[in-house]
Amino acid sequence: MIGDKESDLYIRRLFPFHFLINQELIITEAGISLKKILGDNCVGQPFTNYFTFVRPGLGIKYQMESIRKYENQIFILSANFKNSTFRMKGEFVFNEDNKTLLFCGSPWITSEKDFEKLGLKIKDFAVHDSTIDMIQNLRVQQMAVEDSNHVNKMLLEKNEELKKTNAELDRFVYSVSHDLRSPLLSIHGIIDIIKQREELSESTAALLQMIINSINRLDNSIIEILDYSRNARFDVQYSELDLAVLLNQITEDLKHTANIDFDIEFNTSPTISSDKFRLATILKNIIGNAVKYRKSGNDNCFVKVTVSKQGSLMEIIIKDNGIGISERSLPKIFDMFYRATSTVDGTGLGLYICKEMVLKLGGTILLESELNIGTTVTIKIPG
Ligand code: ADP
Repeated sequence: MIGDKESDLYIRRLFPFHFLINQELIITEAGISLKKILGDNCVGQPFTNYFTFVRPGLGIKYQMESIRKYENQIFILSANFKNSTFRMKGEFVFNEDNKTLLFCGSPWITSEKDFEKLGLKIKDFAVHDSTIDMIQNLRVQQMAVEDSNHVNKMLLEKNEELKKTNAELDRFVYSVSHDLRSPLLSIHGIIDIIKQREELSESTAALLQMIINSINRLDNSIIEILDYSRNARFDVQYSELDLAVLLNQITEDLKHTANIDFDIEFNTSPTISSDKFRLATILKNIIGNAVKYRKSGNDNCFVKVTVSKQGSLMEIIIKDNGIGISERSLPKIFDMFYRATSTVDGTGLGLYICKEMVLKLGGTILLESELNIGTTVTIKIPG
């Protein structure tokens, strides 16, 4: 059913071969392309002078009510013109007043010859802007799809290039850092020999110690860069590890640096299947930070490590009562090179590396902290 003026207009413009018939089956209107074939004077003539039904079937009578039963079905009409015939394909639609029938369709063109026979051109099938608009819209959509395919291809290629560049950069960082360590350690060694062999004045000994401190700082930075690039370059290598042994080694090394009470509690078996290098680096960094950022002058500094099992995940909680981190700094704490304080030496790489390594192990890391109260880091990793 059609009726509102706008859609009537649209249909008529979209179908330049349309025609309208009244209850007496007289053609009251014809599209301009149909008129081109049948002649202008088809309007006012009985529909049956020009058309016979081929489909939907023989039962259909040349009456409006009979045609109505087949509303919205595809009709094939045979049309007479200039002692010849052609076929039209389309459907009948009733007007809202139920007194007129609109045929929306077009000639059934199967070859170039049909165009010649009917004296038609392509533009006769799309005479109005709305039709052209539709075709243009389709073309624009098609171009958009082609464009997005092209962009996708380019992105994939760029992605491959970036992966290659990244891998090369990681290799470069690794070998440069590695090579930098050797001369640094030689200088350290030479200074140690001088200190042992020579009778040094107090001021010279102090100067040499300053050099050693700088070397140590530089070496720590290089080690962190190497850890980062090792994590980026190498796949995870699983092995059976004893967390108790690993944690004891780390805390034993740190006990010499400060007066701290270490407490390690296991609520589960200490055995874990994980990557030794990554797990050791993560724990060294987090526990190292808990010691490094202790409150100076506090005689009751502690680091408490609790290990539990949460389903298939191993949960390791490291809690300290150190200087803590301000709320403002917390959102950036895992960023590369970010430091929340400069009172102690550091690179701002440790937590960034921990996050990258935990991700590589398929786990999560969470840091909660309160300024002047302390910090708690929760690591969950499969194992
Ligand atoms: P670095 O220790 O080399 O500065 P990290 O990435 O390990 O780098 O840590 C980033 C910053 O987070 C540190 O500079 C410090 O301000 C803060 N931080 C990390 N751990 C702690 C902690 N346990 N207590 C207080 N501050 C911490």
